[in-house]
Amino acid sequence: MGRILGIDLGTTNSVMSIMEKNGPVIVPNSLGERVTPSVVGFTKSGEILVGKKAKRAAIMNVGRTVFSIKRHMGTNYRVRIEGKEYTPQEISAMILQKMKQDAEDFYGEEINQAVICCPAYFTDAQRQATKDAGEIAGLKVRRIIDEPTSSALAYGIDKSADQVILVFDFGGGTFDVSIIEVVSGVFQVLAIQGNTHLGGDDFDKRIVEFLVEEFKKSHGVDLSEDPIAMQRLKEAGEEAKIELSEVKESHILVEAITMTEKGPLSLDYTLTRQKLESLVENLVEQTRAPVLQAIEDAALSLDKIDTILLVGGTTRMPAVQRLVKEITKKEPRRDISPDEVVSLGGAVQTLALAPIEGDLEDTLAARYGKEKPVIIHMTPFSLGVGLEHDQFSVIIERNSTYPTEAKDIFTTTHDFQEAISFPIYEGEENIASENTFLDLLRIEGITPAPRGVPRVEVTFRLNPDRILEARAEDLATGVEKKITIAATDARLSESEKQRMVKESKDRVSRSLRERIQENRIEESQSVLSRSEEVLANYAGHPMESTLRKKTEDLRSLMQQGGGDDRKLGETIDDVNRLITIIETAAG
Ligand code: AMP
Repeated sequence: MGRILGIDLGTTNSVMSIMEKNGPVIVPNSLGERVTPSVVGFTKSGEILVGKKAKRAAIMNVGRTVFSIKRHMGTNYRVRIEGKEYTPQEISAMILQKMKQDAEDFYGEEINQAVICCPAYFTDAQRQATKDAGEIAGLKVRRIIDEPTSSALAYGIDKSADQVILVFDFGGGTFDVSIIEVVSGVFQVLAIQGNTHLGGDDFDKRIVEFLVEEFKKSHGVDLSEDPIAMQRLKEAGEEAKIELSEVKESHILVEAITMTEKGPLSLDYTLTRQKLESLVENLVEQTRAPVLQAIEDAALSLDKIDTILLVGGTTRMPAVQRLVKEITKKEPRRDISPDEVVSLGGAVQTLALAPIEGDLEDTLAARYGKEKPVIIHMTPFSLGVGLEHDQFSVIIERNSTYPTEAKDIFTTTHDFQEAISFPIYEGEENIASENTFLDLLRIEGITPAPRGVPRVEVTFRLNPDRILEARAEDLATGVEKKITIAATDARLSESEKQRMVKESKDRVSRSLRERIQENRIEESQSVLSRSEEVLANYAGHPMESTLRKKTEDLRSLMQQGGGDDRKLGETIDDVNRLITIIETAAG
């Protein structure tokens, strides 16, 4: 049995880990970093960049860089680049494929299995899409596991005492809170609440809006119409936000952010933590109600919660930590990195899936005990079918544990009716169509009979990945119809999936590390020649000497064979940025 990757496929960043003898460890990517930005960029020359490289090149690839694709998983959204369309599954697969390749390079062996974590509120369609993305990337997806459960697993498994854990997960794009009970190694999710449209990105937007206003006040120039200036502002704003989690003041300097007739203008502003906190105060406050609701849903009093776990980058903000402490009256744990905990739990989950071999078994038994972790999840929504008069008939109740199976019997409403359509919904409304439509289960060939006589049994089965399989059976004849649910149009057909798997394989014919090196050298060469052109065409430009100096730095790094990868990357970025500024100013 080969290694199994535990992957946190995040909205903003992704992280991977593997179970080692001494417990789960983070696997670094090809740049030696523990976190890979979930960003995919398409260059003009048709190359696909993933991770930090794509993020850094975003200024050069405005309109060809994909951020936060996770928000679109399980929908019909398409990314359109240079006339070609990509599904969210394909874009996510590019991220997963890079992670797989980096892990293979790190361990020097093929790795083709993974546990992928997804938000607890993800619907069937979103889970199926996540699974498809893994498969397109060449990974057998052994399990889709909820992120909060995964976090608790990373933390809770080597603690012998039973406990109740509150997981407060505030990332780049989403916020959710879960309450999990751990009893004798059994993890049970008691409640989930959250807001899928609240995250650190919203904080960045607030900072950018504020800086745009400040710039307008001091210089009378509106930066909001200029996509490159906005992208640079977003990066600088996010950097300041992150810095302000550690220090009280952050100096934001974006040089030559715009050109005027009098020359370039820079944005120069000192943002204080206090100002930042006032800008985002009501966003932080929006996390309060879901926490209180989750505690109420779990039917617990505050003092029954033993442990507060912080997950996601935004929980590093002091204002967020203060609020959590104020609500829960407890000090959150700080011993596991909020960026890594989900992925580490994914690696722990692999224990429950695979026969563990040899000495790994003994070491793990010493650490975790002989019992493998058992996880019991609960569905956050009811699942059922729409009947006559749009009535909603629930088959699997909200907060049921899964895997589970439930059935109900229905009949016809007209004489000699030969087919019945069951629209499947998830939600809590009595009026079926006010819930979320998932798919249509239609059974044909029912033996003709007066209405009310045929007996059609509908069975819902929720598998361990919380993907729903629905079956309808005419009990008189045994005729049946079975479907696996994913929002109909968003679901990939088997042939589409196979095509994507093939395209994805073609992309990794060379090792990613080789490609990164080659790309870096190619990129430097092309940037140097563009810079020569720009220096020749725009002699006398106010930024000319700055560009000349940075170009010389780049040339000397190249003469040393590229030097330090990080330094080279930063110098390429600097030269690129200056070229863009000079060219943009010249129209
Ligand atoms: P995640 O989705 O968990 O990767 O979280 C990413 C979000 O966390 C982004 O919005 C980051 O800007 C934010 N973030 C990361 N580190 C910090 C920090 N030290 N302080 C505040 N926000 C942070």
